Amino acid sequence: MEKYNFNAGPCVLPRPAVESAIEAIRNFDNTGIGILEISHRTPGWERIMKETADLWKELLNIPDNYHVLFLGGGASTQFFDVPANLLKSKAAYLETGSWAKKAIKEAKFYGEVEVVASSADKNFSYIPKGYSIPEDVDYFHITSNNTIYGTEIHEDIDSPVTLVADMSSDIMSRPVDVSKYGIIYGGAQKNVGPAGVSFVIVREDILGKTGRPIQTMVDYRTHISDSEKNRSMFNTPPVFSIFVMHETLKWLKEQGGVEAIYKLNKEKAGMLYDEIDRNKLFVGTAAKEDRSIMNVCFVMKEEYKDKEAEFLKFATERGMVGIKGHRSVGGFRASIYNACPKEAVEALIKCMQDFEAQN
Ligand SMILES: *Cc1c(COP(=O)(O)O)cnc(C)c1O
Repeated sequence: MEKYNFNAGPCVLPRPAVESAIEAIRNFDNTGIGILEISHRTPGWERIMKETADLWKELLNIPDNYHVLFLGGGASTQFFDVPANLLKSKAAYLETGSWAKKAIKEAKFYGEVEVVASSADKNFSYIPKGYSIPEDVDYFHITSNNTIYGTEIHEDIDSPVTLVADMSSDIMSRPVDVSKYGIIYGGAQKNVGPAGVSFVIVREDILGKTGRPIQTMVDYRTHISDSEKNRSMFNTPPVFSIFVMHETLKWLKEQGGVEAIYKLNKEKAGMLYDEIDRNKLFVGTAAKEDRSIMNVCFVMKEEYKDKEAEFLKFATERGMVGIKGHRSVGGFRASIYNACPKEAVEALIKCMQDFEAQN
């Protein structure tokens, strides 16, 4: 039976990226040696590193005064890398979910943190609005897409101070005006590759201003490096993860790039939300205007609550994988990242309709 993968991360990857990863393990770049066994200082690898960074720049229209870094440690490491590099005395954070809370916790090791607004009062089911960003802070941090709660900041906001965004789960899903940000970071394993590598898009002029010494590996300037050849190569980079990212971005470019995938993402999400709103059994958990186009969260209506386990079993038997909601929301979550085909969304909708007909 065909499987439809709705996992939240790690998650579905484009098939061609998976196929070339398999081939590269056997024979990388016609060297006769597999990618897991080559040196990261071979010319073939240096080319992949450069091409991967170039694909990022091209796909997201990244201005020349930004660098794209590929680092280890996941987005969770960026929770402390960001304040280590930017926080001199005080930072502002928007609290929109568990990941934002974790980022706030780490920033507090480096200075004062002002939480400018929070949606904790309604279990993070909306994006706070009407708050003001203080001007006396070193930066303002947002989580653009809240993977667990299915809410998303749909537009690039204007900030009077350096704007930093955790875009782990919506990077490359929509066009972004990178010039509005000082740093954009995230783990690759939601939309741009497998686990094991994180991306950091950073504007160089904001670095080196805390007046505090920084550990070598934590300092972004180490990874920027004076020579392009050594960029993100201060230590051994996560070679395999970066290779699969390279293949994933190549695939995205072939699909027509970010504008084209954005159109498709809106269509996929629109179809699924329409079904949730129409179906008598289900109800969405996120405020309508803040609904994520990547993570679609829904539960069973109060009067059908006892059917939740039954629907999960029903859907699993029809090939749906990874639709159980996160424990902090319950119900269901369909993560419909770039590589999730429209047919998967259609199959899930059919499944919801068939279950409704039975009940
Ligand atoms: C998954 C996720 C993280 C954590 O990423 P790791 O790479 O596992 O550290 C952080 N922020 C957001 C928004 C996420 O979706």
